[in-house]
Amino acid sequence: MNPFEERAKKQERINASMKDIKYLIAVGSGKGGVGKSTVSANLALSLAKEGYRVGLADADVYGPSLPTLFNIENPEVMATEKDGQELMIPIEKYGIKLMSVGFMVDNNAPLMWRGPMASNALTQMLSETLWGELDFLILDMPPGTGDIQLTLVQTFRPSGCLFVCTPQQLAVADVRRAINMFDNENIKVPVLGLVENMSYFTPKDMPEKKYYIFGKDGGKNLARELNTDFLGEIPISEEVSSGNDNGNPVAMIFDSPEAKAFMQLADNIIEKTKNI
Ligand code: ADP
Repeated sequence: MNPFEERAKKQERINASMKDIKYLIAVGSGKGGVGKSTVSANLALSLAKEGYRVGLADADVYGPSLPTLFNIENPEVMATEKDGQELMIPIEKYGIKLMSVGFMVDNNAPLMWRGPMASNALTQMLSETLWGELDFLILDMPPGTGDIQLTLVQTFRPSGCLFVCTPQQLAVADVRRAINMFDNENIKVPVLGLVENMSYFTPKDMPEKKYYIFGKDGGKNLARELNTDFLGEIPISEEVSSGNDNGNPVAMIFDSPEAKAFMQLADNIIEKTKNI
């Protein structure tokens, strides 16, 4: 087999591994630390609460946070064979299927996830997981727009993508670059829109109040400037960060205002995917 045939064969295998996934939704950001993983996890959980079959893949090689968010450190990832291929069985928690770079990395082998082998390792992680039939696979991308991100997008061609920003980090250029990576002539992944995280603060004793401590409508204006839709505002809150730290994402606290904000985001995504 020549290298072109080999490449085509590999892509065929990857496509086959994704064929039972209705929507692969990539979550990106211009920069790290904006809450991309927080949004990915809570969006996945909110979709599952609506009855969808959901998976969450943490491909953030620079800071895999899924093990902490779900309190699954160093799990034993089991393998099984399907059609002559060995596949990893995702870990299940709160009704969703989870796979993370962080499950693979032990202290001796973090380097392969950073260097030139990272794209290959990520591709393998995603395509050699037994996801089964899913309505949504949420893909928590590495932040920014390097080679790894581009390879992921080209190889897996997500059904749609969304971007996370914060009012403090409204660098148009960063987000525009991230959007362009998905929405260019060759790839054409539909851009579902922009989510603003840490938008406002609501004191517990004044649940009707919203304090826009970092300024109001920054995300909305940025979305307008980038010619994309605005998908919602997520409050900054202790509940979100302590939920993250304790392996109990806030979407699981069903009646909390934060869970409602994520549910609203999930509803917007469901609506958007109808037009893909
Ligand atoms: P990224 O994936 O963009 O690097 P993370 O989701 O890991 O960002 O979030 C970065 C930090 O900010 C984490 O400590 C997380 O708990 C915290 N955080 C994210 N969103 C919120 C929020 N809405 N309210 C409070 N803390 C948040």
